[in-house]
Amino acid sequence: PADSGKLGFAIVGLGKFATQQIMPSFKDCKHARITALVSGSPDKAKKLAQEYGVAEKSVYSYENFNSIKDNPEVDIVYIILPNSMHAEYTIRAAQAGKHVLCEKPMATSVEDCEKMIAACNKAGKKLMIAYRAHYEPFNLDAMERIRKGELGKLRAITSDHGRPVKPTEEKADSWRVVKKLAGGGSLMDIGIYALNACRYLTGEEPVEVTAQEYSDKSDPRFKEVEDNIHFTLRFPSGVLASCTSSYSYSEVKRGRVFGDKAWLDLDPLSDYYEHNMKIGDDKGKEEPKLKEGNQFAAELDHMAECARDNKTPKTPGEEGLKDVRYIMAIYEAAKKGKAVKV
Ligand code: NDP
Repeated sequence: PADSGKLGFAIVGLGKFATQQIMPSFKDCKHARITALVSGSPDKAKKLAQEYGVAEKSVYSYENFNSIKDNPEVDIVYIILPNSMHAEYTIRAAQAGKHVLCEKPMATSVEDCEKMIAACNKAGKKLMIAYRAHYEPFNLDAMERIRKGELGKLRAITSDHGRPVKPTEEKADSWRVVKKLAGGGSLMDIGIYALNACRYLTGEEPVEVTAQEYSDKSDPRFKEVEDNIHFTLRFPSGVLASCTSSYSYSEVKRGRVFGDKAWLDLDPLSDYYEHNMKIGDDKGKEEPKLKEGNQFAAELDHMAECARDNKTPKTPGEEGLKDVRYIMAIYEAAKKGKAVKV
């Protein structure tokens, strides 16, 4: 059969992202297939199981999830739950003897990230964080051009991520404004794309962060989590990054890198499809036409190959932990109104 040799994935949490982006992408995978579903909504799970050819016995609830250990069809568990639930389900999956792919942000505290890494290490299982931009052709091409020196010496980066959060209209946004489930606001959810991009585009780790936050506390959406946040990162080579994220401006997901020879613009930088790249200098600009790939399928295949071939993923738990540490430092800098060394 076409699926023989593919590794089996259990999808945990059948929400908007899981059902609209991830599950449909398996059809483009060479090494990954869906073999189990885990959900708190039995009717929805049953319907999706039929649609995706998942056996009824391979549909789990959160309560009986641990028994997934007895299912040989499941190699990898993919956690697509609200942020604060990532740690518990990653740890339970590792204890059930499964490899784990976990959505961003990895967790809502540094301690949880450390526990997740320890649990997967103890079980001898892989842990990968689903930083899809690392598997996306435009971002990969940008990294390659930068490493080859096309932009010269990097000097600065700007990146902005915004989208209007609508908790009363959109179910997927309802937990995003609850601190206990989301861990934080726009920074945890989408500012993390800017933060992570600054790191993979420079290939460096920041040494200092500053930040300012402003949220209208009379807006019921921002009683518990932040809306607007602006943060800067200083890198060892002297690159200065300036980033914003917001839950109240319209859709934006862009980044621009400035070198002493040229600049490179990705707009969008972190969308699902339809990326764009422009490169320019004093003489003009060009727009390289790259082939848009399915970044979700590439990411799922990478996870499957790492599990199969005992390789460390390109974006392991340690990568997720770094961002959560920087996020905490950004919140601290915003709160204190002072630069924080990281
Ligand atoms: P949704 O609310 O649409 O999905 C979350 C699902 O988790 C729910 O549908 C539900 O599934 C399950 N769930 C279990 N307990 C709860 C609870 N207490 N409250 C709400 N849901 C619960 O959110 P998203 O799909 O947008 O986000 C899920 C995760 O994916 C987040 O970590 C987010 O950061 C990440 N994400 C990543 C993206 C990316 O591009 N990499 C894009 C969008 C999201 P069920 O009914 O089956 O139990």
